[in-house]
Amino acid sequence: MSYKVVKFGGSSLADANQFRKVAAIIKSDDKRRFVVPSAPGKRFSDDIKVTDMLYKCCELAGSGVDFSDDLQLIKNRYNGIISELGMDMSLDEEFDTIERELKARPAKDYAASRGEFLNGKVLARFLGFNFVDAADVIVFNTKGSLLLEETVKAARERLKGLENAVIPGFYGRTTEGVIKTFSRGGSDVTGSIIANAVRAEIYENWTDVSGFLVADPRIVDKPDVIETITYRELRELAYMGASVLHEDAIFPVRSAGIPINIRNTNAPEDAGTMIVSNDHDFSRESLGHTITGIAGKKGFSSINIEKAMMNNEHGFGMKVLKVLYDNGLSFEHMPSGIDTMSITLETARLEPVRDKVIAELRREVEPDHIDVEDGLAILAVVGRRMKNTRGTVARVFAAMAHARINVKLIDQGSSELNVIIGVSENDLPEAIRRIYDMFINSEKQ
Ligand code: ASP
Repeated sequence: MSYKVVKFGGSSLADANQFRKVAAIIKSDDKRRFVVPSAPGKRFSDDIKVTDMLYKCCELAGSGVDFSDDLQLIKNRYNGIISELGMDMSLDEEFDTIERELKARPAKDYAASRGEFLNGKVLARFLGFNFVDAADVIVFNTKGSLLLEETVKAARERLKGLENAVIPGFYGRTTEGVIKTFSRGGSDVTGSIIANAVRAEIYENWTDVSGFLVADPRIVDKPDVIETITYRELRELAYMGASVLHEDAIFPVRSAGIPINIRNTNAPEDAGTMIVSNDHDFSRESLGHTITGIAGKKGFSSINIEKAMMNNEHGFGMKVLKVLYDNGLSFEHMPSGIDTMSITLETARLEPVRDKVIAELRREVEPDHIDVEDGLAILAVVGRRMKNTRGTVARVFAAMAHARINVKLIDQGSSELNVIIGVSENDLPEAIRRIYDMFINSEKQ
């Protein structure tokens, strides 16, 4: 039998009511056997995540300040869930251990990991599933990098023969036995590893949205959900700031050919977004829009260099890039003409070395003119189908022209997976709306 690995984020397990929804989801499909929980997240917008409460306890412990009241607040949250669910369970012993450990060795990762550890215990008991401590299966080296092979081997070994299990997300241990966490949001990574270890048919990542949206809902009114997205497209959109999934969660499942399905605990009937290696992997094809997603990012500057006959000057580009390199700068795009060259880069990175970089460029390449333009935004139109569709770029430009938006830079990678345009920051929201209209709304009609 093939299994589904299901990961539930913090908001999906924030209180007893959410626990009930989670249990109903798991029990409604017999394949959902391996469960990875986060720590209880926010119940309302001003609420504090248990992980953050634990970090605070650790900080207080580290400065020798009494943290018993703060720890008691965390205990209250778990006890509230336990009693509301009508369970007969005590976490007194676990909390005594945590208090003792934090007093003796206030380690940040250990403290934070207890959120998932305790939630895993409660969820396992509530579901009647086995509890498997992530410290037994997720292995890091002493520098803190995940040892994927060892981990998959250990997890396979430990889970072999178990009918079901709850494995807390977010942490593991180093080869020296010290508790270590992933970066924030890391339960996504644990879920992905477990999916690989049990050779799951799918990795379901349950959260509080019904998948990735085609565009930012703060800019486009009620944007469509992306039905299917490839890993490569996801990387492009994630780089531009769209985030639902931890970046490191992709590799363990991608390498094993396991799709990820982003689902909504509060709307389990929604199909969510399917993340696949390529279209053919999964039969559920999306609506067939030319583009998959649109993302935009503000805060860029362009260094514009002009010099007659620049094109004939051997090593001109190399000298320019060397100046950037020497100043620790990386660039995003480099559109150029015969006698001009522009380099787009993040303003915040340029700022501390701006004058020095300009002075060095003047010295190295002796331009006829050099200036820096700030206030640029970059917009990425991403879609695997663009490759086989003519006129995509023309449509992007038509949308901009109709809106009287000046396009300051364009770049289409050779993969033809995305079209990048640079516009003034003020124009970014309108540019996104126009492109959404052009590709999504008009293709629906
Ligand atoms: N609880 C951890 C966090 O708040 C990890 C996670 O939720 O995935 O970042």
